[in-house]
Amino acid sequence: MTYDANNIFAKILRGEIPCYKVYEDDHTLAFLDIMPRSIGHTLVIPKAPARNVLDIAPEDFAHVARTAHKIAGAAKRAFNADGITIQQFSEQAGGQAVFHLHIHVMPRMLGVALVPPMSNKESPTVLEEHAARLKAALTGT
Ligand code: AMP
Repeated sequence: MTYDANNIFAKILRGEIPCYKVYEDDHTLAFLDIMPRSIGHTLVIPKAPARNVLDIAPEDFAHVARTAHKIAGAAKRAFNADGITIQQFSEQAGGQAVFHLHIHVMPRMLGVALVPPMSNKESPTVLEEHAARLKAALTGT
């Protein structure tokens, strides 16, 4: 399987499609999932063009893991979460729908189930507010 540079996350990286950005550094970008499975559901992607865990360079995967770790801590503080679920899907058989590697970081509340994948598009107002909360938690403001 080869990387398709026209996938939707590659377009987000190139600025061709907007996103609710939470964090960016030299190697990674984190933004809100527009169909969140939990409050503050965030996606962390590498800037390097990798399809999934089966083709990403180990050092690029390490950058993504480092950012996911950072987002997890900020998400716990931002949403007063009881826990965090982290998921990564590779290839269609693994549950992947968008073929640019991403790690899902999902804040969890005790007793609250995850919403089914891609079942509910969140409103821009809510997404903007959640992105602002995450950014504030990341900077400690
Ligand atoms: P998967 O490839 O199965 O790990 O999931 C892809 C995820 O991308 C789903 O949770 C979608 O809700 C999410 N998604 C799809 N398009 C966008 C977009 N334009 N911005 C943010 N999240 C998206």
